[in-house]
Amino acid sequence: MNEPAKPRSHGRFSARPTAGARPLTQDQAPVDAFRVKVLTIFPELFPGPLAASLTGKALAERLWSLEVLDIRRFARNKHRTVDDTPAGGGPGLVMKPDVVAAAIDAAGADTVPADAPDERERWPMIYLSPRGRPLTQARVRALAGAEGMTLLCGRFEGVDERVLEARGVEELSIGDFVLTGGEIPAMALIDAVVRLRPGVLGNEASTEVESFAAGLLEHPHYTRPQLWEGRAIPEVLLSGHHARIAEWRRARAEALTKERRPDLWRAYQATGGDTEQSDANTTAGKGGQKGN
Ligand code: SAM
Repeated sequence: MNEPAKPRSHGRFSARPTAGARPLTQDQAPVDAFRVKVLTIFPELFPGPLAASLTGKALAERLWSLEVLDIRRFARNKHRTVDDTPAGGGPGLVMKPDVVAAAIDAAGADTVPADAPDERERWPMIYLSPRGRPLTQARVRALAGAEGMTLLCGRFEGVDERVLEARGVEELSIGDFVLTGGEIPAMALIDAVVRLRPGVLGNEASTEVESFAAGLLEHPHYTRPQLWEGRAIPEVLLSGHHARIAEWRRARAEALTKERRPDLWRAYQATGGDTEQSDANTTAGKGGQKGN
């Protein structure tokens, strides 16, 4: 039997990689808490920045829980090998299907079978991957309505395709660029989802007037001083006229979206502003995603 790894301190929380799922929060999370399980070969990276600020406070208050599984614990040899050379040749290494599947299965008392796609939305099993469907605020909002989610962090060239198929894994990308591992994308996804859970943000209304909520980028913000380096706050924002302020913000949001995100602007125009609801990514978990 391998020696248990030493716990590493992360402020109020410590991450000790385990073979079984173990909450980082000290006591059992309440039944209605949002539960996140992360599969990684770098468990010591968690909770990382998630322990700070509002997500950290919510973690301490057990509004959500975090369980981290060390994929290496499921390796079958004494060197804890999780990767092997790619079939067909080429550079890099691929994460082995037997090891990754064992980790997914160990995480899985709460996950549902791969052949139950509708139930899958209750507890999505997600692999962070540059090949995945682009993550959107609509998908984030749908995930925030689940009971929990299990996140698989890849390394090397990624994961053997068969385990993704066999376990009905959804692939999500955080953008059109390639990182060295899935841990930062997993943290980004957790942060985006957890902040939408009830009680996590101080001012819950703020999620309804931010970028993407109505299919637009958000309008610019200003605060005191009124004049800074010769630049004044737009006059209308100091007028106290709420209707004119709302109109100005709307116009600026539309102009910014048109200029910076023609894709969002087209969708916004096509749907009359109801783009988040019409986002194809909202139910992307159903049935898993193969090869996209
Ligand atoms: N060979 C892969 C490809 O070209 O698509 C890239 C593998 S990348 C070096 C290693 C891991 O980082 C991936 O398995 C994934 O978990 C994570 N990763 C990298 N970029 C990502 C992104 N944009 N979104 C989500 N995960 C990403």
